[in-house]
Amino acid sequence: MKIGILAIQGDFEAHRKRLEELGAETVLVKTAADLENLDGLVLPGGESTTHMKLLTEEGLFDRIVERARTGMAVFGTCAGAILLAKEVKNPAQPSLALLDITVVRNAYGRQLESCVTKQTADLTGRPLEMVFIRAPVIERVGSDVQVLARRDGQPVLVRQGRILAATFHPELSSDPAVHEYFLKMVRDGR
Ligand code: GLN
Repeated sequence: MKIGILAIQGDFEAHRKRLEELGAETVLVKTAADLENLDGLVLPGGESTTHMKLLTEEGLFDRIVERARTGMAVFGTCAGAILLAKEVKNPAQPSLALLDITVVRNAYGRQLESCVTKQTADLTGRPLEMVFIRAPVIERVGSDVQVLARRDGQPVLVRQGRILAATFHPELSSDPAVHEYFLKMVRDGR
């Protein structure tokens, strides 16, 4: 199984480490050519406006959309979830629009900007550590979107078909459950 990690900016190394610990082969993606032959792609955290700019400049934007529509699984965390969202607010910005959700950027306010919390997740049925860093809030989920974990009732881990998004950073906690789930999703081919 070959998993690409978008490596233009942000915390891609932590994803790489986690995926390799779980037995996946990884590729750091910097150009559109790096997307060939991938079974899955991770869009890491960072600054979504910077990611969007570079995706467009590198010709990655169109190619990711094409590959995702023809079966490549995609997992976005935090800024990556913003890139996947169909609608982005605060402020509005363009996105890959592969996932039917609306997100509000930096929506937790200054005091709560970054935090670590443990909440029982549907995904695991047990408490899951969630690290939030200037995270977006998922304000709306479409009817085809499954909610796999919530923070105080609000969706924070969602899936639609082969697209998975977390507003927190599973690569920064010791629990590998979310990456395991993504790899299973890639392997199962649905
Ligand atoms: N605040 C960033 C954004 O809006 C996301 C932060 C993150 O990825 N940790 O793009």
